[in-house]
Amino acid sequence: MSIKASTRIRLSGVGLALAGLCLVWSQGQPPKQPLNVQKVTDNLWVIMTSDSGNVAVLPTAEGIVLVDDKFDQYGPEILAKVKAISDKPIKYILNTHQHGDHTGGNAFMLMNTPAEILIHKNARANMVAGKQPGLPQVTYADDAQVFIGGKEVSAHHLGRGHTNGDAVILFPSERVLHTGDLFVNGSAPFIDYSAKGSIVEWDKTLDRVLQLDFDIVIPGHGPVAKKADLVKWRDSIAELRSRAKKACAGGAEGAAKRLDLSGLGMDDSLGFMVRSVPGMCAELAN
Ligand SMILES: [Zn+2]
Repeated sequence: MSIKASTRIRLSGVGLALAGLCLVWSQGQPPKQPLNVQKVTDNLWVIMTSDSGNVAVLPTAEGIVLVDDKFDQYGPEILAKVKAISDKPIKYILNTHQHGDHTGGNAFMLMNTPAEILIHKNARANMVAGKQPGLPQVTYADDAQVFIGGKEVSAHHLGRGHTNGDAVILFPSERVLHTGDLFVNGSAPFIDYSAKGSIVEWDKTLDRVLQLDFDIVIPGHGPVAKKADLVKWRDSIAELRSRAKKACAGGAEGAAKRLDLSGLGMDDSLGFMVRSVPGMCAELAN
């Protein structure tokens, strides 16, 4: 399925902004949007815009933990919103993966806060390969824990999906999980084959994610959800793979057109499937 001219015109304003969803290496930034702050639990907030990744904010008595930091241009406003939640400094930032709409604020944060930034080792390697600014200081292979102000925040790399360096971030005290782009609530997934993403592994990775202990889910993009929604998304990813297999059987050419997303809760108005299908067909042919 391709974005038709008429669709493109209809979407023009929104489409431009949303094109930033998966900018990958590009540091081009869509027009700025006002930041929307929502309380997720008594002690956890999310900062949202539709053009870039959801930012989680956990204040503690010793400092603040963030998950992801959107694009560089949002740096000052993220700081202002965080300050309204807590006057403590930002001590740790956990990046869910390397894409610029999740790590684009790293360089600003490194300049303007005492934050230490953590990311999975594959995601950091992807940043280096993409010559992205704001490289995190700390990496890990499987998981990492941050302990601050009596709270724990843990990062878990449970396999490939959106990329080869995806991490989910667990806030055990809040029973909340930030999934990064392993779950984009309401959109079709983008499988970043340039960063070794995988439609074959994705739902198996989610099976391991679902073994973690949490109730509420902050997706990489889209509204806050419940664990049951993540179960549904896992099933939709598995179904997408089986439909893609059929669509690809007729050849990669035209497979995107043959791929039916109906009933999966995946809006592909941004054309992520068109970008993902050639890689999916290649992967599914193996
Ligand atoms: Zn992404």
